[in-house]
Amino acid sequence: MKMSKMFVQTLREYPSDAEVVSHKLLVRAGYIRKLSQGIYNYLPLMWRVLKKIENIVREEMDRAGAQELLMPFVQPKELWEESGRWEVYGRELMRLKDRHDREMCLGPTHEEIITAVARDGLKSYKQLPVNLYQIQSKFRDEIRPRFGLLRGREFIMKDAYSFDLNEEGLDKEYQNMAQAYKRIFERCGLKTKMVQSDSGAIGGSVSHEFMVITDTDAGENDVFYCNDCDYSANSNHAVSGLLEAVTDGGFTEKKIVDTPDTTTIELLCEFLNVKPSVILKDLVYIIDKKPVMALIRADKEVEETKLMNAFGGSDIRIATAPEIEEIMINHGFNAAKGFIGVKGMDDIPVIADESVKDMKNFVVGINEQDKHLVGANLDDVRIDKFADIRLVEAGEHCPQCGKPLSVTRGIEVGNIFKLGTKYSKPMNAVYLDKDGKAQPYVMGCYGIGISRTAAAAVEAHYDEFGIKWPVAIAPYHVVVVPVNINDEQQMSVAEKIYKDLSEAGIEVVLDDRDERAGVKFKDADLIGFPYRITVGKTISEGLVEYKVRETGAQEKYTPEDAVKNLINSIKAVL
Ligand code: ATP
Ligand code: MG
Repeated sequence: MKMSKMFVQTLREYPSDAEVVSHKLLVRAGYIRKLSQGIYNYLPLMWRVLKKIENIVREEMDRAGAQELLMPFVQPKELWEESGRWEVYGRELMRLKDRHDREMCLGPTHEEIITAVARDGLKSYKQLPVNLYQIQSKFRDEIRPRFGLLRGREFIMKDAYSFDLNEEGLDKEYQNMAQAYKRIFERCGLKTKMVQSDSGAIGGSVSHEFMVITDTDAGENDVFYCNDCDYSANSNHAVSGLLEAVTDGGFTEKKIVDTPDTTTIELLCEFLNVKPSVILKDLVYIIDKKPVMALIRADKEVEETKLMNAFGGSDIRIATAPEIEEIMINHGFNAAKGFIGVKGMDDIPVIADESVKDMKNFVVGINEQDKHLVGANLDDVRIDKFADIRLVEAGEHCPQCGKPLSVTRGIEVGNIFKLGTKYSKPMNAVYLDKDGKAQPYVMGCYGIGISRTAAAAVEAHYDEFGIKWPVAIAPYHVVVVPVNINDEQQMSVAEKIYKDLSEAGIEVVLDDRDERAGVKFKDADLIGFPYRITVGKTISEGLVEYKVRETGAQEKYTPEDAVKNLINSIKAVL
């Protein structure tokens, strides 16, 4: 490809609406253009990257025994009613009507469709197991599409679905997919961690996420991991042993005391001269539009997904101050934040964290302004259910080996999920077993964000000058830069290198633009070609400059050696 003909416009400035590195760089380097909120054009350079990721995914999925198909992007409401998700899938589901007033949606995921496909085709135990996948655009009307390709509204996903006879078969396929995912991300040049994660309110199911670990702002997930064993988990699923498991407030007498103006835990601690771990904190959440009270030691935080799952809901947020005020008034109290308790709140469910069981003689709010109960014990508080609703903190004990946990941030690029019969049962998707009895398929689903993986690769590989693509997913492997295109010798050597590399199957760009060398170098770094060959003045000594983008290493070679080296280095990775 000649740079003079390439459809790419690099920009001088970063786009003003971009918050994260990958978004800034992909726009500035001419990979993507925004069409609308969370909707992007994938320009030719981007499309080359995406196709490379797709091909790696495709090769590894095929190698793992899965079969590719392609399902429609527009889906009818009826199937979503069969699974029960038409009602519960929130506003991320983009719903529309056709000219006959039939309700449809844009596919955010394809469990319903694939289950119907399987139901039509897989009738006998002899046909199972099967794993079917597709690579396709998805649409989710994300509430805050931001971060460019990391969280788009329209994005490209690989989604696979497995159908097995029983749990045992599913376990095996789950492991098979985990292995395939490891190979996929390794081949893309990405370091990932496979971490345990939340699998929603479906009891007993298992899921893992593949995280690109990053120290940039783009990591939306906190990952807790152990340096001594293989434990790692998303914060929505992580568990730990507390450093201080049992706490005792030391109040020998149970009594109500005045605690004026102690509106925060800090003020209360100061006033009573106690540690936060002996205060029982009362929080009000709204789960599926109804209030729920959560109790936790005041030195710890509630993990909202855990709380939501413990309650069995599908939507959670913390209650606002006016909502709390209204609840108080409706129950005949006038206490404000800081003094809230479960007392007299008989119609509101109360969930306490497991660690509350180990609190003694503690301090708790009783819905009386400027008062607290001290020396309280479990019997003094109404609790409907204990569950692990606590957010883990770094330094706490690993649940597997007891060593301290560490925390880092991650970008979820893929996940694997045991669905069991969540879809096959309600949709009556069954096969006939050996005895002729109808059994629901035992299913798994396995997603990879293709466009998110490309953006995550940028988050993991960049510097102040631009992108540093891993060779396997770079749009082109090499750029050849003649410093002065009007110098015949430079130009003919550059063209020869370009031709030799092309013939060897290396993807190469010749920067034949009549621009200053500095401009060409800047663009080369910004676009992120893994290798740059510069043909300049040293060609009079028979040498060209060979530069590796990832390390910045530069060497001088003869053109022949440069070509040989490039072919060897690049072919070793592909
Ligand atoms: P997240 O928690 O980040 O919203 P998710 O749990 O909704 O992800 P899945 O439904 O499991 O994601 O989708 C499978 C994969 O698709 C994810 O692992 C991710 O790589 C990708 N993905 C999901 N949502 C988006 C999005 N809005 N933009 C780009 N990629 C996405
Ligand atoms: Mg999502």
